[in-house]
Amino acid sequence: MIRLHDILDTISAYNPEADLDVIKKAYVFSAKMHEGQTRQSGEPYLVHPMEVAGILARMKLDVPSIATALLHDTVEDTVTTLEEVERLFGPEIKNLVDGVTKLSRIQFTSVEEKQAENFRKMLMAMAQDIRVILIKLADRLHNMRTLEHLPEKRQVPIAQETLDIYAPIANRLGIQEMKVELEDLALKYLKPDVWRHIDEQVKKRASQREKHISEVKNSVERTLKEHHVVGEIYGRLKHYQSIHKKMVAQNIPFDEVHDIVAFRIVVDNVQQCYEALGVIHALWRPVPGRFRDYIAMPKANNYQSLHTTVIGPHGDRVEFQIRTRQMHETAEHGIAAHWKYKEGRLMEDKDEMKFKWLRRLLEWQSEISDSTEFLETVKLDLFAEDVYIFTPKGQLKELPRGSTPLDFAYSIHTDLGHSTVGAKINGKIVPLRYQLHSGDTVEILTQKEKHPHKDWLQFVVTSRAKAKIRSFLRQEEHDKSRAIGHEVLEKACGHHGLNINRVLKSREMEEFAKNASYEGADAILSAIGYGKISALQIVGLFVPHDQLVPEEAAREKARESVIGKIVRRLTRAKGLVKVSGYSDMLVNFGKCCNPVPGDSIVGFVTRGRGVSVHVSDCPKVVGMDPTRRVDVEWDQSSDATHIAKIRVVCADRPGLLANITEAITAEGVNISAASIHTMEDQTAVNNFDLEIKNITQLRDVIKALERLKGIISVHRVREG
Ligand code: MN
Repeated sequence: MIRLHDILDTISAYNPEADLDVIKKAYVFSAKMHEGQTRQSGEPYLVHPMEVAGILARMKLDVPSIATALLHDTVEDTVTTLEEVERLFGPEIKNLVDGVTKLSRIQFTSVEEKQAENFRKMLMAMAQDIRVILIKLADRLHNMRTLEHLPEKRQVPIAQETLDIYAPIANRLGIQEMKVELEDLALKYLKPDVWRHIDEQVKKRASQREKHISEVKNSVERTLKEHHVVGEIYGRLKHYQSIHKKMVAQNIPFDEVHDIVAFRIVVDNVQQCYEALGVIHALWRPVPGRFRDYIAMPKANNYQSLHTTVIGPHGDRVEFQIRTRQMHETAEHGIAAHWKYKEGRLMEDKDEMKFKWLRRLLEWQSEISDSTEFLETVKLDLFAEDVYIFTPKGQLKELPRGSTPLDFAYSIHTDLGHSTVGAKINGKIVPLRYQLHSGDTVEILTQKEKHPHKDWLQFVVTSRAKAKIRSFLRQEEHDKSRAIGHEVLEKACGHHGLNINRVLKSREMEEFAKNASYEGADAILSAIGYGKISALQIVGLFVPHDQLVPEEAAREKARESVIGKIVRRLTRAKGLVKVSGYSDMLVNFGKCCNPVPGDSIVGFVTRGRGVSVHVSDCPKVVGMDPTRRVDVEWDQSSDATHIAKIRVVCADRPGLLANITEAITAEGVNISAASIHTMEDQTAVNNFDLEIKNITQLRDVIKALERLKGIISVHRVREG
């Protein structure tokens, strides 16, 4: 059991000026309040706050944090009040205790909505004082360490919550040490069989492993010395969770996980990191593709190190991490390493800058009002790894893995994101859904009048891009529905001799809005636009029911079905063409040349209408901006149909039209539109819109028509 002196000694070692009296006072108070209480393990309750304080002291946190750790359960579990804490320990500690207490009351249930709301509260707490989260993490860590004393049915949900929420947060805050321990403990309770199996295997091979570790250690130490690099080398067993992940990812048994030991070399400065790397690579052959330079390109959580894997002394893979002492501190303690003993002060600007992630979260949470949406967006950022890309000016940017040029654009500026029409990667045009790779140079092509498209939400990955696109679309949708609502209501008013402006400002309207819980006339108009309220309901406020013009409703329906048709036609075009290999991009076909499947085609990125597809010899292609050109091909797997226009000139003879349509449908082709003009010279010109699958089918139709008696000519029509 940890003793008060251990805690005090730890603090004095890193902060000789610390006011230890506060810690002593908190200890005495906590001991008094928790007196007589025991934990499930049978130990006195005080052990828990003491251990939590010990964890934070080892993380080198400030005095108020450690005092709060000692007091953290007093308000929740004893008769202590917050006022008492404030009177005895001052406002800072009181606020910290209050934050931790509130956080403890949050239950992360499986109900998504509730979980989302709770998660948001947690982040808000983090916003006010990050120390609250650090204390909460230490609290959770100790509870996980002692989870065996709880009944089984409580163990699993706590372990799950730890894996889902707390470990990712520790990771994002860069507290590696805590993250891996939380994950390992969670694994123990969530997959006890797996954990036990790994544990047995690890123990069985302990002596063999020790031999391997000391062998590698000795070689490295000796060689480092020869090259005058001063460094310490540690060999350590990998965490169970990461061994488990390897077994699952590569579908291999424990025996085949070769690199269960990882080595770490800690040196004095950055130059020595690279020198040590050179020494290792000279000693053993590096495995290609396994070298990572997180010193030049730190991770989003500030992690820095060189990683490499080599073929070790017995032909097996050996992993090395090389870092400076300061990098090591940051890797183990993350945000806490920057916190340290800056008594009573918030993070310095410089450090705050490093945790941009945190600030961005807080920014978004004020923008997103729907908590489920918030959780969804935030989860992405918590779990994603990162890619590193360059701006055209050579600036380095980090983005989550899977990010697209749009994510990049939104990370620079909202307006840049909104007006994106295309992107160049390393000088080459790519589709917007292209996934960025580390090292890419990304250039964004824009058009002022361009707007975000709903499809974008399908492939952007950052919370910021999602939030910005959603908010734009919501606003746009609202404006649109308001305009439609206004139009519909204006017509309905006209039919009943009413003035829409007077209707909108009327007392009746105001009352209607109040009763139906709409905030004002705009909300009503938008509801009409969405079809939630009928315009007749509003008109009915002023006109007796038997005088309402009934066909108004029918007219609204008719409008709807026209829109429905247009929408169906557009979706039909989707999936026909692959753009740079992707099949669900928004495409439209040039009216000038009407390409059909089988035609040789080219595509151009347009302003806001997706990719425009033309026949390669279309005259319009010549005038197009070649930088907007993208690769397009017909999607062979698609069974979508496409409209082709044909013109059939024939003798104006009764019954011939019937023969023509029969011949077309006999080829399995639908006619979606037709027009017939009779000429003075006894001929008829028939225009047909045909729904065809590919060019072969169109040729078959044309051939069949040409065989008919009385046909003068059959042509495919290309307008323009
Ligand atoms: Mn606790």
